[in-house]
Amino acid sequence: TKANMSTIPPPKILTEQPNIPDKQLFGPGPSNMPDEIRSSMNAPLLGHLHGEFTKIMDDVREGIKYLFQTNNRLTFAISGTGHAGMEVAVMNLLEPGESFLVVKNGIWGLRAANLGKRLSLDVHVLEVPEGQVATLDQFTAAVKEHKPKVVFICQGESSTGVAHPLEGYADVAHANGALLLVDTVASIGGAPFEQDKLGVDVVYTATQKVLNAPPGLAPISFSAKAEEKIRSRKTPVVSFYFDALELGNYWGCFDEPRRYHHTGMVSMVYSLRAALAAIAKEGVEKEIARHQENAIFFYKELQNAGFEPFVANKSIRLPCLTTVKVPEGVDWKIVADKLMAQKIEIAGGLGPTLGKIWRIGTFGVNSNQDKIKKVVAALKEATEQAKAKI
Ligand code: PMP
Repeated sequence: TKANMSTIPPPKILTEQPNIPDKQLFGPGPSNMPDEIRSSMNAPLLGHLHGEFTKIMDDVREGIKYLFQTNNRLTFAISGTGHAGMEVAVMNLLEPGESFLVVKNGIWGLRAANLGKRLSLDVHVLEVPEGQVATLDQFTAAVKEHKPKVVFICQGESSTGVAHPLEGYADVAHANGALLLVDTVASIGGAPFEQDKLGVDVVYTATQKVLNAPPGLAPISFSAKAEEKIRSRKTPVVSFYFDALELGNYWGCFDEPRRYHHTGMVSMVYSLRAALAAIAKEGVEKEIARHQENAIFFYKELQNAGFEPFVANKSIRLPCLTTVKVPEGVDWKIVADKLMAQKIEIAGGLGPTLGKIWRIGTFGVNSNQDKIKKVVAALKEATEQAKAKI
């Protein structure tokens, strides 16, 4: 071979345009992206330590504090999706052998327990049936029994459409020497959440649901007590990339010069700034109220169309993600495929709910009554066709 000829030829497929249809994303995420968020990513790249960019990082930190309703200084966005939020939280808060209690009412508790085992933690699971939540009494008993250093609750369990209550849970954890860690990936901005008022020690979320930004960043915030726990570790955090104190330095959380830690996701951070600006403009409490009102509208539309909700108890339904029972004799996949052919995405169940439910996300701009009406009409038509085996 000549020096200028490579053995592997360039893939011809790359000369073609990719197929990227404009779909209505009513699955459990990602959601649709409004123009102002999409166009924010067309801005020129900056260096990851340029003053103009670190100013944007500062703006984003203010936006995340507003979104979580916290004054915590250790607040930033991880370069990674929601899972990265879970990994940073668990990996930094706990050391091998420490007790970690997980409330499991769906796949996210299961995932947290799995992660805890990989990190050699002493993992305990408070198992709650799918579609339900742990009562404060059940929670208290489990905390007293297992004496955890950290307890995990998923606020928006996206596999079942349940919003876990949080009032009073941190008090129980604190009274027993534990920190409370909450996953709000599928709930932030769509269900009530105030970190400081609730006493939540660590919260993380992701950008691709209510925030309507692309997947790729995980906002996270640690309370002073959580930061203290990390600073008092006897063993180093196994990951350098996910070291919360290194990340905190890069994000300017401490009164010290920023060091290079990794190359920040420059364009993604622009998009997160745009997403947080949109929430600040609407007002986070208005945004939550809109999701709650439109969820009630959604339940009525579903009922009128002959569908039944999966979560019987109205007070624990997740306003931004609705789960619907698949009627007897109907194949959920045929219906979802019929909708997808119309460029409307809905999802089926996950894990134990597979085949039993559909999951329909109405995140951010998709929490809109006209859009909800169209989705329900399409769902009804496709279900009738599936019943008639068309
Ligand atoms: N937690 C919850 C509640 C989620 O719904 C998801 C994503 N579906 C995740 C964590 C993981 O997020 P990601 O897929 O962005 O890693």
